[in-house]
Amino acid sequence: MGINNRGNGIEAQLRKVQRFVEPRSVLEGAGVRLKRSIALPELDYVDPFLLFDHFGSENPEDYVAGFPMHPHRGIETVTYVLDGRVTHRDSIGNEGTIGPGDVQWMTAGGGIMHEEMPGAQQGRMAGFQLWVNLPARLKMMQPRYQEIASSQIPEVDGGDGSRVRVIAGKVNGIQGPVSKIAADPTYLDVKIPPHGTFNHPVRRSDACFAYLFEGSGLFVTAQGEDRTVAHPQLILFDDGDYVEIRAAEAGARFLLVSGKPLGEPIARYGPFVMNTREEIRQALRDLQNGTFVQPA
Ligand code: FE
Repeated sequence: MGINNRGNGIEAQLRKVQRFVEPRSVLEGAGVRLKRSIALPELDYVDPFLLFDHFGSENPEDYVAGFPMHPHRGIETVTYVLDGRVTHRDSIGNEGTIGPGDVQWMTAGGGIMHEEMPGAQQGRMAGFQLWVNLPARLKMMQPRYQEIASSQIPEVDGGDGSRVRVIAGKVNGIQGPVSKIAADPTYLDVKIPPHGTFNHPVRRSDACFAYLFEGSGLFVTAQGEDRTVAHPQLILFDDGDYVEIRAAEAGARFLLVSGKPLGEPIARYGPFVMNTREEIRQALRDLQNGTFVQPA
């Protein structure tokens, strides 16, 4: 597919692993147990990605308390449900339930209040939430909400038993349905069979990580050695032109996420991510004064 040669005689460069991040168990919302791998003391953010959580449990006590009404400003939150459902409502009038395979891409912009309540289906509940930063010029934009049903997400057959769900970005010319996002992100759900290989070009200088959540995979370390890691694990790639992930004997399933770094200052406080401390103080004042949510 031309990813091993750019056609100009220069060989495309493999993105080696910059670091492996073991997810940490944290309590969020009203008492939801999550596995977090971005927004940790050891990995604050991966510009433009500010947080990555994996929620999943067969024990309702880990999630029923949910995320009651709370504010966001300056970011986008992306929720992808694998199992179970998430019932939500927000201050711009959206209300509903997303289920297995569905995606919610919520742009908080200048201010949104929303509620996210997980529930099980056949006793299971699992999914992911990613926070994507907004550039300074869009932090105060009108909130926006995109809900993408599972049936709208194209699935690309890799021919060797692998399959890719294209949520955002492009695979073999197939474009995912999420669009008009400043970070121009790629968000793929990739499943590869035992000993299968997945290659994907990633624009140079874009941030890129994989989140392995089933099976185990082989990755090339900075030293050029193969390392096998088991799920759950976040794999942060170094710069280069493409990633390559090989499945071990049990196969592998992972998210592949990439996007354009903003290179802007980050001031974060809970659900607000702005550029300066003063903008954070303003968000808190707006919340107190009842001027946080702007009229549509
Ligand atoms: Fe939220």
